[in-house]
Amino acid sequence: MTLFRQLGPITIALALGLGSCQQAGPSDTASGNGDSEALNLSGDKVVNVYSARHYNTDSELYEGFTEQTGIKVNIIEGKDSELLERIKGEGENSPADVFITVDAGRLWRAEEEGMFQPSASETLDNNIPKNLRHPDGLWFGLSRRARIMVYDPEKVTEQELSTYENLASPEWEGRVCIRSSSNIYNQSLVAWLIEKNGADETEAWAKGLVSNFAREPEGGDVPQIRGVAQGSCEVAVVNHYYLARLLKSEKAKDRLVAKKVAAFFPDETHMNISGAGVLATAPHSENALQFIEYLTSPRAQEFFALQNNEFPASQGIELDPVLESFGEFTASPINVGAYGKNSAQAIEIMDRANWK
Ligand code: FE
Repeated sequence: MTLFRQLGPITIALALGLGSCQQAGPSDTASGNGDSEALNLSGDKVVNVYSARHYNTDSELYEGFTEQTGIKVNIIEGKDSELLERIKGEGENSPADVFITVDAGRLWRAEEEGMFQPSASETLDNNIPKNLRHPDGLWFGLSRRARIMVYDPEKVTEQELSTYENLASPEWEGRVCIRSSSNIYNQSLVAWLIEKNGADETEAWAKGLVSNFAREPEGGDVPQIRGVAQGSCEVAVVNHYYLARLLKSEKAKDRLVAKKVAAFFPDETHMNISGAGVLATAPHSENALQFIEYLTSPRAQEFFALQNNEFPASQGIELDPVLESFGEFTASPINVGAYGKNSAQAIEIMDRANWK
Protein backbone atom coordinates (compact mmCIF):
# COMPACT_ATOMS: atom_id res chain seq x y z
CA MET A 1 0.00 0.00 0.00
CA THR A 2 1.30 3.39 -0.83
CA LEU A 3 0.69 6.04 1.75
CA PHE A 4 0.13 8.70 -0.82
CA ARG A 5 -3.51 9.15 -1.55
CA GLN A 6 -5.17 11.68 -3.73
CA LEU A 7 -7.23 13.29 -1.03
CA GLY A 8 -5.47 11.99 2.02
CA PRO A 9 -2.30 13.01 3.79
CA ILE A 10 1.03 12.78 2.11
CA THR A 11 3.69 10.79 3.84
CA ILE A 12 7.37 11.04 3.13
CA ALA A 13 9.67 8.60 4.82
CA LEU A 14 13.13 10.05 5.24
CA ALA A 15 15.65 7.98 3.34
CA LEU A 16 17.50 6.96 6.48
CA GLY A 17 14.70 7.60 8.79
CA LEU A 18 12.53 4.55 9.26
CA GLY A 19 12.70 3.65 12.89
CA SER A 20 12.35 0.49 14.86
CA CYS A 21 8.59 0.34 15.06
CA GLN A 22 6.32 -0.84 12.33
CA GLN A 23 7.57 0.34 9.01
CA ALA A 24 5.37 2.64 7.04
CA GLY A 25 4.56 1.99 3.43
CA PRO A 26 6.91 3.06 0.67
CA SER A 27 7.55 6.75 0.41
CA ASP A 28 5.91 8.43 -2.46
CA THR A 29 5.11 11.88 -3.66
CA ALA A 30 2.78 13.37 -6.19
CA SER A 31 5.50 14.67 -8.45
CA GLY A 32 8.19 12.22 -7.56
CA ASN A 33 10.87 14.78 -6.79
CA GLY A 34 9.99 15.09 -3.13
CA ASP A 35 10.93 18.71 -2.51
CA SER A 36 8.87 21.01 -0.33
CA GLU A 37 7.38 22.96 -3.23
CA ALA A 38 6.10 19.90 -4.99
CA LEU A 39 4.56 18.66 -1.76
CA ASN A 40 2.91 21.98 -1.19
CA LEU A 41 3.99 22.36 2.42
CA SER A 42 2.93 25.98 2.32
CA GLY A 43 -0.48 27.61 2.09
CA ASP A 44 -3.10 28.36 4.72
CA LYS A 45 -4.94 25.07 4.79
CA VAL A 46 -1.96 22.87 5.58
CA VAL A 47 -0.30 21.33 8.61
CA ASN A 48 3.15 19.74 8.34
CA VAL A 49 3.72 16.97 10.84
CA TYR A 50 7.19 15.58 11.53
CA SER A 51 6.58 12.23 13.16
CA ALA A 52 8.92 9.72 14.76
CA ARG A 53 5.91 7.50 15.20
CA HIS A 54 4.83 5.71 12.07
CA TYR A 55 2.16 3.15 11.52
CA ASN A 56 0.41 2.05 8.40
CA THR A 57 -2.95 3.15 9.74
CA ASP A 58 -1.92 6.74 10.47
CA SER A 59 -3.16 8.11 7.17
CA GLU A 60 -6.73 7.02 7.90
CA LEU A 61 -6.60 8.91 11.18
CA TYR A 62 -5.23 12.05 9.58
CA GLU A 63 -7.84 11.97 6.83
CA GLY A 64 -10.46 12.44 9.54
CA PHE A 65 -8.81 15.75 10.43
CA THR A 66 -8.84 16.92 6.83
CA GLU A 67 -12.52 15.98 6.52
CA GLN A 68 -13.38 17.98 9.65
CA THR A 69 -11.31 21.06 9.00
CA GLY A 70 -10.31 21.16 5.34
CA ILE A 71 -6.68 21.33 6.49
CA LYS A 72 -4.38 19.04 4.53
CA VAL A 73 -1.93 16.94 6.56
CA ASN A 74 1.60 16.34 5.26
CA ILE A 75 3.60 13.79 7.22
CA ILE A 76 7.38 13.59 7.25
CA GLU A 77 8.44 10.42 9.03
CA GLY A 78 11.81 9.54 10.41
CA LYS A 79 13.79 8.64 13.49
CA ASP A 80 13.44 11.03 16.39
CA SER A 81 17.02 12.33 16.29
CA GLU A 82 17.07 12.69 12.50
CA LEU A 83 13.85 14.67 12.49
CA LEU A 84 15.17 16.98 15.20
CA GLU A 85 18.39 17.51 13.22
CA ARG A 86 16.35 18.20 10.13
CA ILE A 87 14.18 20.79 11.88
CA LYS A 88 17.29 22.47 13.30
CA GLY A 89 18.94 22.42 9.89
CA GLU A 90 15.90 24.00 8.29
CA GLY A 91 15.99 26.71 10.95
CA GLU A 92 13.60 29.64 10.64
CA ASN A 93 12.49 28.34 7.25
CA SER A 94 11.41 24.95 8.52
CA PRO A 95 7.99 23.98 7.19
CA ALA A 96 7.51 21.75 10.27
CA ASP A 97 4.48 22.60 12.42
CA VAL A 98 4.10 19.62 14.73
CA PHE A 99 6.65 17.19 16.14
CA ILE A 100 5.42 13.77 17.32
CA THR A 101 7.69 11.36 19.17
CA VAL A 102 7.64 8.54 21.70
CA ASP A 103 8.97 8.71 25.25
CA ALA A 104 8.74 11.71 27.52
CA GLY A 105 12.55 11.70 27.70
CA ARG A 106 12.72 12.50 23.99
CA LEU A 107 10.05 15.20 24.25
CA TRP A 108 12.14 16.74 27.01
CA ARG A 109 15.27 16.73 24.82
CA ALA A 110 13.37 18.62 22.12
CA GLU A 111 12.01 20.99 24.76
CA GLU A 112 15.53 21.63 26.11
CA GLU A 113 16.69 22.58 22.64
CA GLY A 114 13.94 25.17 22.42
CA MET A 115 12.12 23.35 19.65
CA PHE A 116 8.60 23.92 20.97
CA GLN A 117 6.39 26.96 21.51
CA PRO A 118 3.87 27.05 24.35
CA SER A 119 0.25 26.43 23.44
CA ALA A 120 -2.78 27.24 25.56
CA SER A 121 -5.81 25.11 24.88
CA GLU A 122 -8.83 24.43 27.02
CA THR A 123 -9.57 21.37 24.90
CA LEU A 124 -6.14 19.90 25.64
CA ASP A 125 -6.38 20.83 29.32
CA ASN A 126 -9.68 18.97 29.48
CA ASN A 127 -8.69 15.96 27.40
CA ILE A 128 -5.17 15.27 28.68
CA PRO A 129 -4.47 14.64 32.38
CA LYS A 130 -2.13 17.19 33.91
CA ASN A 131 0.71 14.75 34.58
CA LEU A 132 0.83 13.80 30.89
CA ARG A 133 1.48 17.28 29.51
CA HIS A 134 4.04 20.03 29.90
CA PRO A 135 3.00 22.64 32.51
CA ASP A 136 3.42 25.46 29.95
CA GLY A 137 1.87 23.56 27.05
CA LEU A 138 5.14 22.82 25.22
CA TRP A 139 4.03 19.21 24.57
CA PHE A 140 1.04 17.00 25.20
CA GLY A 141 0.79 13.25 25.81
CA LEU A 142 -1.29 11.43 23.22
CA SER A 143 -0.97 7.80 24.30
CA ARG A 144 0.33 5.95 27.32
CA ARG A 145 2.61 2.95 27.65
CA ALA A 146 3.02 1.04 30.91
CA ARG A 147 6.35 -0.52 31.91
CA ILE A 148 5.12 -3.77 33.40
CA MET A 149 6.46 -7.06 34.72
CA VAL A 150 6.08 -10.25 32.76
CA TYR A 151 6.61 -13.41 34.78
CA ASP A 152 6.69 -17.17 34.58
CA PRO A 153 3.56 -18.32 36.45
CA GLU A 154 5.11 -21.74 37.02
CA LYS A 155 7.92 -20.25 39.08
CA VAL A 156 6.51 -17.01 40.44
CA THR A 157 3.21 -16.33 42.17
CA GLU A 158 1.45 -13.04 41.69
CA GLN A 159 1.67 -12.47 45.46
CA GLU A 160 5.46 -12.33 45.24
CA LEU A 161 5.25 -9.34 42.92
CA SER A 162 4.57 -5.81 44.10
CA THR A 163 6.83 -2.91 43.07
CA TYR A 164 9.88 -2.24 40.88
CA GLU A 165 11.69 -1.43 44.12
CA ASN A 166 11.05 -4.96 45.37
CA LEU A 167 12.89 -6.51 42.39
CA ALA A 168 16.14 -5.32 44.00
CA SER A 169 15.63 -7.42 47.11
CA PRO A 170 17.81 -10.54 47.59
CA GLU A 171 15.05 -13.07 46.99
CA TRP A 172 15.15 -12.17 43.29
CA GLU A 173 18.81 -13.06 42.83
CA GLY A 174 19.47 -14.52 39.38
CA ARG A 175 15.82 -14.23 38.32
CA VAL A 176 15.38 -10.82 36.64
CA CYS A 177 15.74 -9.87 32.95
CA ILE A 178 15.72 -6.32 31.63
CA ARG A 179 17.29 -4.67 28.60
CA SER A 180 20.35 -2.43 28.69
CA SER A 181 20.71 0.93 30.38
CA SER A 182 21.31 2.60 27.01
CA ASN A 183 17.62 2.21 26.27
CA ILE A 184 15.49 5.28 26.88
CA TYR A 185 12.64 3.25 28.43
CA ASN A 186 14.96 2.18 31.24
CA GLN A 187 16.48 5.65 31.56
CA SER A 188 12.97 7.03 32.00
CA LEU A 189 12.12 4.29 34.52
CA VAL A 190 15.18 5.14 36.62
CA ALA A 191 14.51 8.88 36.24
CA TRP A 192 10.99 8.27 37.53
CA LEU A 193 12.36 6.33 40.53
CA ILE A 194 14.70 9.27 41.29
CA GLU A 195 11.67 11.57 41.30
CA LYS A 196 9.78 9.17 43.55
CA ASN A 197 12.44 7.96 45.99
CA GLY A 198 15.45 10.26 45.60
CA ALA A 199 18.84 9.61 44.00
CA ASP A 200 20.49 7.72 46.87
CA GLU A 201 17.72 5.22 47.28
CA THR A 202 17.53 4.77 43.50
CA GLU A 203 21.26 4.08 43.28
CA ALA A 204 21.00 1.42 46.00
CA TRP A 205 18.04 0.00 44.10
CA ALA A 206 19.92 -0.09 40.79
CA LYS A 207 22.83 -1.94 42.41
CA GLY A 208 20.44 -4.45 43.97
CA LEU A 209 18.61 -4.94 40.68
CA VAL A 210 21.82 -5.51 38.72
CA SER A 211 22.93 -8.10 41.26
CA ASN A 212 19.65 -9.92 40.59
CA PHE A 213 20.06 -10.10 36.81
CA ALA A 214 19.58 -13.58 35.37
CA ARG A 215 21.89 -12.62 32.48
CA GLU A 216 23.68 -9.64 30.96
CA PRO A 217 21.17 -7.30 29.34
CA GLU A 218 20.73 -8.11 25.66
CA GLY A 219 18.12 -7.29 23.04
CA GLY A 220 14.94 -5.26 23.23
CA ASP A 221 11.82 -5.82 25.30
CA VAL A 222 10.53 -8.78 23.25
CA PRO A 223 13.68 -10.87 23.88
CA GLN A 224 13.12 -10.31 27.61
CA ILE A 225 9.60 -11.76 27.28
CA ARG A 226 11.04 -14.68 25.30
CA GLY A 227 13.62 -15.11 28.04
CA VAL A 228 10.84 -15.63 30.57
CA ALA A 229 8.95 -18.00 28.26
CA GLN A 230 12.12 -20.05 27.64
CA GLY A 231 13.05 -20.23 31.31
CA SER A 232 16.16 -18.01 31.19
CA CYS A 233 14.56 -15.62 33.65
CA GLU A 234 11.53 -15.62 35.92
CA VAL A 235 10.48 -12.00 35.70
CA ALA A 236 11.19 -9.30 33.11
CA VAL A 237 10.43 -5.58 32.93
CA VAL A 238 8.99 -4.55 29.55
CA ASN A 239 6.58 -2.15 27.90
CA HIS A 240 3.09 -3.61 27.90
CA TYR A 241 2.45 -3.25 24.18
CA TYR A 242 5.15 -5.77 23.30
CA LEU A 243 3.20 -8.41 25.19
CA ALA A 244 -0.06 -7.27 23.58
CA ARG A 245 1.62 -7.52 20.18
CA LEU A 246 2.72 -11.12 20.88
CA LEU A 247 -0.76 -12.02 22.14
CA LYS A 248 -2.29 -10.71 18.90
CA SER A 249 0.43 -12.02 16.59
CA GLU A 250 -0.49 -13.93 13.46
CA LYS A 251 2.42 -16.27 14.21
CA ALA A 252 1.45 -19.21 16.42
CA LYS A 253 4.91 -19.30 17.97
CA ASP A 254 4.60 -15.69 19.15
CA ARG A 255 1.23 -16.44 20.73
CA LEU A 256 2.76 -19.48 22.42
CA VAL A 257 5.46 -17.25 23.98
CA ALA A 258 2.79 -14.85 25.20
CA LYS A 259 0.70 -17.67 26.66
CA LYS A 260 3.62 -18.98 28.70
CA VAL A 261 3.96 -15.72 30.62
CA ALA A 262 1.68 -13.59 32.77
CA ALA A 263 1.48 -9.80 33.08
CA PHE A 264 1.75 -7.89 36.31
CA PHE A 265 1.19 -4.15 36.63
CA PRO A 266 3.31 -2.93 39.56
CA ASP A 267 1.57 -1.21 42.46
CA GLU A 268 2.37 2.24 41.13
CA THR A 269 2.92 1.55 37.47
CA HIS A 270 5.52 3.64 35.66
CA MET A 271 3.88 5.21 32.61
CA ASN A 272 5.43 6.82 29.59
CA ILE A 273 3.84 8.62 26.68
CA SER A 274 3.99 9.36 23.03
CA GLY A 275 3.30 13.02 22.54
CA ALA A 276 3.33 16.06 20.32
CA GLY A 277 4.12 19.75 20.48
CA VAL A 278 3.81 22.80 18.26
CA LEU A 279 7.24 23.77 16.93
CA ALA A 280 8.70 27.17 17.76
CA THR A 281 9.19 27.95 14.07
CA ALA A 282 5.81 26.53 12.96
CA PRO A 283 4.48 28.48 9.97
CA HIS A 284 0.96 27.18 10.71
CA SER A 285 0.85 27.18 14.51
CA GLU A 286 -2.94 27.52 14.69
CA ASN A 287 -3.45 24.55 12.39
CA ALA A 288 -0.86 22.70 14.43
CA LEU A 289 -2.73 23.22 17.67
CA GLN A 290 -5.99 22.28 16.01
CA PHE A 291 -4.34 19.10 14.76
CA ILE A 292 -3.08 18.14 18.23
CA GLU A 293 -6.53 18.89 19.66
CA TYR A 294 -8.02 16.58 17.05
CA LEU A 295 -5.65 13.80 18.15
CA THR A 296 -7.10 14.06 21.66
CA SER A 297 -10.72 13.74 20.52
CA PRO A 298 -12.34 10.47 21.65
CA ARG A 299 -12.40 8.81 18.23
CA ALA A 300 -8.83 9.80 17.41
CA GLN A 301 -7.62 8.78 20.86
CA GLU A 302 -9.01 5.31 20.46
CA PHE A 303 -7.45 4.98 17.05
CA PHE A 304 -4.11 6.64 17.80
CA ALA A 305 -3.45 4.55 20.92
CA LEU A 306 -4.58 1.28 19.42
CA GLN A 307 -2.16 1.35 16.53
CA ASN A 308 0.59 0.40 18.93
CA ASN A 309 -1.61 -1.33 21.52
CA GLU A 310 -1.15 1.65 23.81
CA PHE A 311 -3.53 3.14 26.34
CA PRO A 312 -5.19 6.39 25.32
CA ALA A 313 -3.96 9.49 27.15
CA SER A 314 -7.56 10.63 27.70
CA GLN A 315 -9.81 9.00 30.23
CA GLY A 316 -13.00 7.15 29.39
CA ILE A 317 -11.95 5.80 26.00
CA GLU A 318 -13.00 2.29 25.11
CA LEU A 319 -10.10 -0.16 25.32
CA ASP A 320 -9.13 -2.93 22.99
CA PRO A 321 -10.06 -6.39 24.45
CA VAL A 322 -6.42 -7.43 24.95
CA LEU A 323 -5.68 -4.26 26.94
CA GLU A 324 -8.97 -4.68 28.78
CA SER A 325 -7.88 -8.22 29.73
CA PHE A 326 -4.87 -6.79 31.60
CA GLY A 327 -7.36 -5.44 34.14
CA GLU A 328 -7.37 -2.28 36.21
CA PHE A 329 -4.12 -0.87 37.47
CA THR A 330 -2.82 2.15 39.32
CA ALA A 331 -0.78 4.45 37.12
CA SER A 332 1.84 6.67 38.74
CA PRO A 333 0.62 10.26 39.11
CA ILE A 334 4.14 11.71 38.69
CA ASN A 335 4.48 14.19 35.82
CA VAL A 336 6.24 12.52 32.91
CA GLY A 337 8.24 15.73 32.44
CA ALA A 338 10.43 14.57 35.34
CA TYR A 339 11.96 11.80 33.22
CA GLY A 340 13.97 14.05 30.98
CA LYS A 341 14.97 16.35 33.82
CA ASN A 342 16.40 13.39 35.79
CA SER A 343 17.77 11.45 32.83
CA ALA A 344 21.42 12.50 33.12
CA GLN A 345 21.43 11.49 36.77
CA ALA A 346 19.65 8.24 35.90
CA ILE A 347 22.37 7.35 33.37
CA GLU A 348 25.11 8.07 35.92
CA ILE A 349 23.38 5.90 38.49
CA MET A 350 23.00 3.01 36.04
CA ASP A 351 26.68 3.34 35.08
CA ARG A 352 27.80 3.22 38.70
CA ALA A 353 25.55 0.22 39.27
CA ASN A 354 27.31 -1.48 36.35
CA TRP A 355 24.02 -1.89 34.48
CA LYS A 356 25.32 -2.76 31.02
FE1 FE B 1 8.83 0.47 21.84
